[in-house]
Amino acid sequence: MKTPTKTIYDANQDAVAELWPEFESLIPDNESAVEHVLQKLFEYEMIRCHCGNQEAENFARISLRILACRQCSREIRFLARTCFRYVKQLKAWLGAIYLKERRVLITSYRLTRLCNIAFATAHNIVTTLACHLQKELELKPSTDVYSAPLNSFIKILFRRSLISVSYKHPSEPPDESNRNNSQTQEEKESQGFPSSSQSSNDCTANNIDIDLTETDKTVFDAIQQMPISQDSLCVATAMNAAQVSSALVMLEVSGLIEALPGNLFIRCKQRETPSSSGAQRDSLTALGFRAFLTIREIYGGVSRKYLQLYLAAFWCHFDSVRWQQDSLLKILLRGKSIRFQDVLSYVSPLTVSIMPLVQPKLSRNQN
Ligand SMILES: [Zn+2]
Repeated sequence: MKTPTKTIYDANQDAVAELWPEFESLIPDNESAVEHVLQKLFEYEMIRCHCGNQEAENFARISLRILACRQCSREIRFLARTCFRYVKQLKAWLGAIYLKERRVLITSYRLTRLCNIAFATAHNIVTTLACHLQKELELKPSTDVYSAPLNSFIKILFRRSLISVSYKHPSEPPDESNRNNSQTQEEKESQGFPSSSQSSNDCTANNIDIDLTETDKTVFDAIQQMPISQDSLCVATAMNAAQVSSALVMLEVSGLIEALPGNLFIRCKQRETPSSSGAQRDSLTALGFRAFLTIREIYGGVSRKYLQLYLAAFWCHFDSVRWQQDSLLKILLRGKSIRFQDVLSYVSPLTVSIMPLVQPKLSRNQN
């Protein structure tokens, strides 16, 4: 397939191909990864003995991961104070961080191949880094963050996870037809992404181009303008609670129905318009659309469960002012670990956050 301009996907692949040899010459293996972390810890004055000693020359090296203070003989396991405490594949972690800090998106699959590690390990690295970014995002003032309904992204959500029905396996290669860059704005908008001019829509299953399963449609048909409970829906559709519950989540995420207090559901008459100013909305649309396009090109799609984490991961990708060299690494060196269980149990909210872009010249609140 020949395309006249470089796609986001190709540009990203090229960047990985260019940057990875650089990284490998800096950090060829896990041992040199430990050396690199130690060097950074000294550089950022993050190593300090209880006796007050923090000079690199006042520490002796006992083993790869242990220092000894020359003043008080205390042993310091320096990785124990960072997020890399239990990490074996340190090179892969640093590699993912290296690429992210250079505005390159790394997929679990690519990291698996580059570092010759298990897919599960690579996936854990990529998702945990995204969790760290999401945490940072939550620490930022809320006025700086734009929100968008999750259903804006419905076209790039794989319907797989505990809370939605599976229809496509994530390891399948992204659909080539999804990488068509030459669509017009109208075509893009007709694919479900809101534009600033498109303020509201009547919500019916027909005029919104969403892939609903037969189960979803049956449940949707049973929901009318009068609020109806989940139990009544089970009776009306002759389905079990799990099926109805799964359909309700999908319909709600799609913006077709609304949940009311008391576990009642009603059809949406209109999609909500963002209650922001025109300028903010334009900015939100542009940012959201960039994230949308990038996710579609690089990943093909993402799970509804982790959409927010992918958006957070793009923070690095888009925001070259806040995310410079070693900024992500510093977060991990600071050592506020995220537990594997927290990554597993993460679920994106119905309103996702999109990070603002700080333009180098227009930056107002750069710290
Ligand atoms: Zn000491």
